[in-house]
Amino acid sequence: MHSRRKLVTAGAALATLGALPAAALAAMGPDDKFDLLLRNANVLDPSQGLSGKRDIGIRYGVIEAIEANIAAERGLRVLDVGGKLVTPGLVDLHAHTYAFGSAIGIPADELTANQCTTTVVSAGDAGAYNLAGFRRFVVPGSRTRQFAFVHIAVAGLAGFPVPELYNIDYAQVDVTARAVAENADFVLGVKVRMSENVIARHGVEPLKRAISACERSGVPAKVMCHIGGVADRALMSQILDLLRPGDVLTHCYSGAPNIAGDATNIVQDGKLLPAALAAKRRGVVFDVGHGGGSFDYTIAEAAVAQGCAPDTISSDIHVFSGNTPGMPYLPWVMSKFIGMGFTLEQVVTMATAAPARVIGRVPKLGTLQKGAPADLSILEMIEGAVSFVDTRNNKRDGKMHLRPAGTVVAGVAFGRPYQAPFTVR
Ligand SMILES: [Zn+2]
Repeated sequence: MHSRRKLVTAGAALATLGALPAAALAAMGPDDKFDLLLRNANVLDPSQGLSGKRDIGIRYGVIEAIEANIAAERGLRVLDVGGKLVTPGLVDLHAHTYAFGSAIGIPADELTANQCTTTVVSAGDAGAYNLAGFRRFVVPGSRTRQFAFVHIAVAGLAGFPVPELYNIDYAQVDVTARAVAENADFVLGVKVRMSENVIARHGVEPLKRAISACERSGVPAKVMCHIGGVADRALMSQILDLLRPGDVLTHCYSGAPNIAGDATNIVQDGKLLPAALAAKRRGVVFDVGHGGGSFDYTIAEAAVAQGCAPDTISSDIHVFSGNTPGMPYLPWVMSKFIGMGFTLEQVVTMATAAPARVIGRVPKLGTLQKGAPADLSILEMIEGAVSFVDTRNNKRDGKMHLRPAGTVVAGVAFGRPYQAPFTVR
């Protein structure tokens, strides 16, 4: 089966990855210039409790300096952001970016104008049989950093909306474990969708197979478990009980009913399930995954009030959800949580440092600390009345929202000022 040698190899690969960014910090001489200098940034980096007007100097793809004032002459290229909000690059833990390979994917770079994302996680677009296409042909062609959960169903979401696990034989533990182990540099674990309209009446079996694949891989691997309209109320608690610390519960505030129309989610009759609170307390990651049918204000408000605030805010953006009234683009979803009473600092953390910690592959990702990857999101804070809608036609009013205004990945801006030559990461 899976040999010790494989475990050692995968572990060594991760260790090497971890060492890279620190080595890239070359000392700057007094006459050296920054490759890119961002001026007049209203910086917010919760990871270091930093907020206020700063200039940011970037060289060799990493953050070299973040100071009150850096002279314009010190930058080969200067981007004056005119007082706009600048945060660590947004990290979307649940997106669908395997265009051409899954039926719902959008190219990650095409999303940046609407999402302001610099890192995205493909949430089960690929299964073990088509992951290599994502790895070889899609990830290298994108400037956006990409990671993935591999689907327990061997063809991933290639057949969407045809349910991938009505036939449980598509859920294959051995090949999925192999895919996780052999791609541990960018595969975070295993995705499984547990809705009745995906798995019929297979109960906890798909989730058990996803957990088995993680365990059998021999590398640290998490399950990303999609809920919403699971078959019955008892199954919802069984799912929660099976999730391990570090596993990700996505669509955590779904209000989608099961096929018969019954409410079977983490809040039932207005009460949070004890199993949900227990999962939260042992370290299961509560991920929003708004999407086109998976965010219900009435569930979210009750869950938050009873102890289950989100850990990560993600979009679940794909070719279907992106056309729905809930508009699940990451800054818009973040704005909904500001409207619910979370602070800007909390919301930025939940879309930067928190998902970066779940990814756990790149040191200082999700921060603007010196030596961090120079990934930045530039956003406008638009003050004024705004109206939001969830995926079940519940409306809420807000007082402000975030609007994407620019993205920098590995020190290179999307758009102007252009890199010359355009030789990027
Ligand atoms: Zn999704």
